[in-house]
Amino acid sequence: MSEKKVYQMYINGQFISKNETIPVINPSDKQVISYIPKGTKEDVAKAVDAAYEAQKSWEKLPAIQRASYLKKIAQKIRDNVDMLAKTITEEQGKVLGLATVEVNFTADYIDYMAEWARRYEGEVLQSDRPNENIFLFKLPVGVAAGILPWNFPFFLIARKLAPALLTGNTIVIKPSTDTPNNAFEFAKLVDEIDLPKGVFNLVSGSGSEIGNALAKNEKVGIVSFTGSVPTGVKIMEAAAKNVTRVSLELGGKAPAIVMGDANIDLAVEAIKNSRVINNGQVCNCAERVYVHKSIEKEFTQKMIEAMSATTYGDPLKEEVDMGPLINEAAIKHVQSLVDGAVKEGATVVTGGKIASRDDGFYYEPTVITNVKQNMKIIHEEIFGPVLPIVTFETFDEAIAMANDSEYGLTSSIYTQNIDLAMRACKEIKFGETYINRENFEAMQGFHAGWRKSGIGGADGKHGLEEFLQKKVVYLQYDMNRQY
Ligand code: NAD
Repeated sequence: MSEKKVYQMYINGQFISKNETIPVINPSDKQVISYIPKGTKEDVAKAVDAAYEAQKSWEKLPAIQRASYLKKIAQKIRDNVDMLAKTITEEQGKVLGLATVEVNFTADYIDYMAEWARRYEGEVLQSDRPNENIFLFKLPVGVAAGILPWNFPFFLIARKLAPALLTGNTIVIKPSTDTPNNAFEFAKLVDEIDLPKGVFNLVSGSGSEIGNALAKNEKVGIVSFTGSVPTGVKIMEAAAKNVTRVSLELGGKAPAIVMGDANIDLAVEAIKNSRVINNGQVCNCAERVYVHKSIEKEFTQKMIEAMSATTYGDPLKEEVDMGPLINEAAIKHVQSLVDGAVKEGATVVTGGKIASRDDGFYYEPTVITNVKQNMKIIHEEIFGPVLPIVTFETFDEAIAMANDSEYGLTSSIYTQNIDLAMRACKEIKFGETYINRENFEAMQGFHAGWRKSGIGGADGKHGLEEFLQKKVVYLQYDMNRQY
């Protein structure tokens, strides 16, 4: 048997080992692939102290110089695409093709954020006095804590680190214990460039201990968190102690509305991909579909065909569409939601079971019909390859059901009717609405959840601003003095 990798944390430019470790499991075969350090609260304190000290000189660098470090990191990522993609696939289970997209997109994202160096600006405001200038500065918050989920683990490092560093903050990253290896590989690449010590730090360990210690550390200026709603609530509670700023990207329950005049093939393809991509574990992908009664039969038939043609298996193999779910708890959670829906009167028309194989945590691509709005499967995040279909008769009814959710991240509508599309833009109360296309955000957009899907948001100019605080300076000058 080959030696398992044992990773080290990265604090103040040093790699740190721990005697106590946590095993990392490959979800496609349930085997241990590596061991990561079980960090302590003291390690978190050291990492935050290092970031705090480093930030003092980091913010004094011109933004363009900070950007040059980001560009070096992006280049390191590009030089190691295959290694990073394989690392992600092994620990997270997404198919290798998608992992490769994630790595390349991450490098592009870092470059994109670096390009803001000469572009983000303060303001000069009108004064009510004749001899005064009012300046609005945008300044770094200080130390950012980035707490990450497991579903796009590599990209999410960049979504936090790139805007934070560009705007003069330093960062401490805590990855999920399910998918930490890519973050450790990232730390090794960062160590190969000349980034000043303490600007980027990586700690590992359980959320309730390490994550909590980060969120309640008084030297942290912003906690940027992506993950579930219950954890988001705990992070707010921990951060509240010091009135620390939080930016929360939480769960979703994206509705897809398919009107009677929709291009059915396009809708089926996009919604099927939504349930299959990353093995159905994407916060922004369609989780419930509302189909107009007039096209119910055709849509459902085509969706059953598309889902049952979906292949799954070892995600390193090119020919499979889907890999395993992240862990045992995930497949059990999906099964309990499917069983619950059946008990409430829904019908499984394809799939509906944990795959009968014992290598990994696989779940069958599933379509469920006869679903009603009041069922649990319509309100709780599924996070698996399962699509419940609800029918409707009027546009207003569809909008009301789409909005009937505690989540408010993304949504979509398929229609050829410009009036309905424009009404949907306004009437669907979600942070993002996609019209006649798959749910996937652009780096220059703004990814932000309404209601329990989060606070603040990421990407683009507005995502960058999350890591800045505003300061106003009133400069009064003497107009009468002679020189
Ligand atoms: P999770 O909430 O279980 O864990 C996320 C992170 O929080 C992990 O690093 C975990 O260790 C840490 N954590 C756990 N308890 C903590 C605590 N008490 N204090 C501080 N940190 C703690 O989420 P997950 O299962 O890793 O990820 C899946 C969830 O993430 C889904 O709900 C999904 O919708 C959401 N998600 C949202 C977005 C978005 O952009 N809105 C993107 C990806 C994933």
